[in-house]
Amino acid sequence: MIPLTGRTTTSNWTHPATDVWQVADAAHAEAGHHAVLVRPGEPTPQGAGLYVTTDPQVAGPGPTLHLPVKLSHVDVGDVLAVTDDGSRVSVVWKASAVHNSILLTERCDHYCLMCSQPPKERDDSFLYERARRIITALPATARALSLTGGEPTIDPDAFLGLLRHIAQAAPELSTHILSNGRRFADPQFAHSYASVELRDVMVGIPLYAADPSLHDYIVQAEGAFSETVKGILNLTAAGASVEIRIVLQKTNIDHLGETAHFIARNLPFVNQVALMGLEMTGLAKPNQNLVWVDPHHYRAELKAAHRILTTAHVPTRIYNHQLCVLERELWPAAVQSISDWKNAYPVECEPCVVRDQCAGVFTTSGTRLSAHLEPITRDTNSDRRTLNEKIAQSSRG
Ligand code: SF4
Repeated sequence: MIPLTGRTTTSNWTHPATDVWQVADAAHAEAGHHAVLVRPGEPTPQGAGLYVTTDPQVAGPGPTLHLPVKLSHVDVGDVLAVTDDGSRVSVVWKASAVHNSILLTERCDHYCLMCSQPPKERDDSFLYERARRIITALPATARALSLTGGEPTIDPDAFLGLLRHIAQAAPELSTHILSNGRRFADPQFAHSYASVELRDVMVGIPLYAADPSLHDYIVQAEGAFSETVKGILNLTAAGASVEIRIVLQKTNIDHLGETAHFIARNLPFVNQVALMGLEMTGLAKPNQNLVWVDPHHYRAELKAAHRILTTAHVPTRIYNHQLCVLERELWPAAVQSISDWKNAYPVECEPCVVRDQCAGVFTTSGTRLSAHLEPITRDTNSDRRTLNEKIAQSSRG
């Protein structure tokens, strides 16, 4: 796992102009609004708003932040959030990463059995404001962004304001929003959302079952199913892009076929369905007896659901699954979807010939992995054809 936060020490600390900084090289020092990275042995330029370094001997002419060794991966184009007193830093954008997300709130009106980011009820409205500053500080190379929570729409005005800011400050970004969809049950809100002129934006909305009571049980919120489905309908009616996400777990796996049929019959116009493997962290840990099922045991159900959806021409992808626990037929639909900073390949993967195309595992899941991970060592003609098809079709999502 790549560490993204750490304790810092300072020298010449006077309150810098902002808490969010894009890291730049010495050539950008004059601009004053970048944090200039001073590498060990390099001269320290004048004029930077902030200096960052892993060299404890460096003291710039202005506020200087000494990064811990574990953050020596910080590089030009990354964006840092620094506490007011300079005692902590978070890497809120990693320029080299395929996946970057911004947390907008920890508040949520769901309490899902397997939530990887358990909700907290406290005023964290500063996060929406900080998200604006992160967007402003993004490097020109930034291409794709995920907005997460909590529930990103919990403060509807702050959410819409942020989207309008993205449209202005970073119009080239592709934006993916993870939402439970319930706010969009309000047609006026769905319309306001769809009216923001973002170039490329999609809302990913979980729908865990076709049975309202089962969906409501999984999200621990009565009436959620009805509002979520209304939200999906309002969004698509307003011309917005929608992805339905189904996290596969013990509670819903026996009903996956019904869920696929429900979507195929009632919501076939969504842009995509993602059939997702479980990340065993957050609330999934204390609830593991309720939620954990080895993906090896639902191979047949997954293949059947994929067939039901694709037969109805619903684009369907498989996230967070290792190729060795999937039927070969599903390999072309499998996406390397796990964020770089929490993605790994266990030791058994070393001899595997499909490692470069496999999603690998969540480091956050610890040892709670499929008991059936097994390197693929055969390189048959049919495997090679399947892989070529997969390479042609998939990209990191
Ligand atoms: S052995 Fe590892 S790399 Fe190979 S398919 Fe399984 S999880 Fe992926």
